[in-house]
Amino acid sequence: MFDQKMLEIGYSQSTIRDLYTYGLARKKEIGEDKVFDFSIGNPSIPAPKIVNDTLVKLLTEEDSVKIHGYTVSPGNKEVRDVIASYLNKTFHATTKGDFIFLTCGAAASLAIVTKAFVKPGEEVITFAPHFPEYRTYTEAVGGVLVNVNPDKDFFPDFVDLEKKITSKTRLVIYDSPNNPTGAFYTEEVIKRMASVLSKKEKEYDHPIYLVSDEPYRELLYKGEEYPFVTNYYDNSIVCYSFSKSLSLPGERIGYILVNPNANDVNDVYAVICGAASMLGYICAPALFQHMVPYVLGHTSNLEEYKKNKETLVTALKEIGFEVVNPTGAFYLFMKALEADAEKFSEVAKQFELLLVPSDPFDYKGYVRIAYCVSYKQIVNSIPAFKKLHNYYKNR
Ligand code: PLP
Repeated sequence: MFDQKMLEIGYSQSTIRDLYTYGLARKKEIGEDKVFDFSIGNPSIPAPKIVNDTLVKLLTEEDSVKIHGYTVSPGNKEVRDVIASYLNKTFHATTKGDFIFLTCGAAASLAIVTKAFVKPGEEVITFAPHFPEYRTYTEAVGGVLVNVNPDKDFFPDFVDLEKKITSKTRLVIYDSPNNPTGAFYTEEVIKRMASVLSKKEKEYDHPIYLVSDEPYRELLYKGEEYPFVTNYYDNSIVCYSFSKSLSLPGERIGYILVNPNANDVNDVYAVICGAASMLGYICAPALFQHMVPYVLGHTSNLEEYKKNKETLVTALKEIGFEVVNPTGAFYLFMKALEADAEKFSEVAKQFELLLVPSDPFDYKGYVRIAYCVSYKQIVNSIPAFKKLHNYYKNR
């Protein structure tokens, strides 16, 4: 009677949520500060003051019927125009409000884009290790997720990318800076990706959409310029979210942007609007739509993540762990001390360390450490990491 796939997804345990739930229960048992929960990517830094100031202003000074009312399905047009101007100024891009669709964060954006372009049996390519939900959205529409292997520094292996693109490839999704590795794709990486895709588009004579999932766009630690995908590849789509940069993950606000230079751009945008309607993702939360023009360009105090990262990377390396040096986002990818990362994560629990095994990211042998936590937790967790390392040394 039920759709088997949905039943499976509904019942499937989410490793990340399970660890998080375990952490909440464990904290009640032994005390909040005794458990070192690194499981979930929930920002630990408050939203900047301008967010609350704007919300108060909107709620007290604007017409309540307007502020809480439905907007048009893709979102308030003035808001979309302001976003386009901001992007054009910041990234020297040529985006247009007409091709922006406001959504409930990057999750809804990705679900819509996958629904819009992928039919049963068609393929979506992504780069392992990757955000686990790419598989959910792809399989939900009967598509097949294909993983490209990383090189030794966790950048795409371009030879493998070229091999994996087939006549059935509809989308190539990347996320930079990356969850779970923290790797930031430089301009050179984006250019190479664009060049492989352009060659394959010609070979197969149909568009292959390059989708940049960028909730961590502002979380860069070396002050690099972000290579905005529409400047490098015509058939490109951006899925952006305010969840991480503004510490607003529960408010569900973000957008899809279609490159105005995409082939048949009106149809591409229309198919996105159609998919959003089919999924019921119309009119993103109105209050937060109205907030967006006031907060563009602002972020939470992201320096705090940088401090966490530096302390943790230095300490873990000193202890003897192997970590991927992150240049962005708020995740650290650490090699497990046994081949089975799930077992390693279980052992870590003995030392009250909650580390996500890499298996749900379609990669073996690592754990993800979400260091969007208090600095106190970082410092206090270091002895536990030492004990974990000693446990394996003395085994
Ligand atoms: N994409 C990536 C890579 C993520 O890490 C996340 C959340 O953690 C999302 C998309 C979804 O973000 P949201 O729906 O909160 O915007």
